Amino acid sequence: MEKAHFFQFSQTHPPFDMSNSILILNCNIVDENLILQNDCFVIIKNGKIDQIGCMDDLPARDTSTTIDGRNKLLIPGLINGHNHSAMTLFRGMADDLELNEWLHNHIFPAEAHHVSEDMVYWCSKLAAAEMLLSGTTCVADGYFFSDHTARSFEEAGLRATVAHGILDFPTPAVPDPSKNVDVVDEFIQRWKNKTDIITPAVFAHSPYTCSPQTLQKAKQLADKHDVRFFIHLAESKHEQSMIIDPTGSSPVKHLKNLNILDHNCVCVHTIWLDDEEL
Ligand SMILES: [Zn+2]
Repeated sequence: MEKAHFFQFSQTHPPFDMSNSILILNCNIVDENLILQNDCFVIIKNGKIDQIGCMDDLPARDTSTTIDGRNKLLIPGLINGHNHSAMTLFRGMADDLELNEWLHNHIFPAEAHHVSEDMVYWCSKLAAAEMLLSGTTCVADGYFFSDHTARSFEEAGLRATVAHGILDFPTPAVPDPSKNVDVVDEFIQRWKNKTDIITPAVFAHSPYTCSPQTLQKAKQLADKHDVRFFIHLAESKHEQSMIIDPTGSSPVKHLKNLNILDHNCVCVHTIWLDDEEL
């Protein structure tokens, strides 16, 4: 086990043609019972796992690409449940700060200056490359100019749910916040059922950047298209004092009162909860 490590798909490997077959030899796999099985082979045909077995039972080889998996661990692709991929541009810019200070004094001003269609496309592509190289094959992303995130991921071959951001203040992608939900509606219509690997979604940024009316409109949009609704919720201890809620309830109760918490709602971070909310 100590010698096992992830496959590194580097330039020493030829590009894989998924329409053909791939044979991985001598690899270690984790089976469906989470038991490590040594010295296995895996055959992939047309982009799907076709056969797994012990090296002793290896069938006659007719595969177009062969990889030696010796001393490596072969696992299913990892899933990144929440990301803002294009923010690779801002990596290391302002670390170890309280959320509110980080957002308002550093990130939102930087985004106002630097976020563009090109920035989103290329910085998402960098993130896609980093994810694929470390074994992540699927991501839930939320940002702006999401057509360009989606295009970037599709070209990279990274499976993704791409959620377009909604806030109640002007952003480079949506300068007029009164159109914040309409822009996302059009994005979803462009990408729904367009490809096998990209699924559009809604990302209402938070209860402290979206009014109750915006949150409800955004949720109705997600329900109308039957796509996921993502939201940052109860991220920080002080969020209760920041949320746009005339009744002054907790972030979770605020969303419950707005009828947003259902099977289609994905709450992100969500760490400051009491027992009842849990
Ligand atoms: Zn986030």
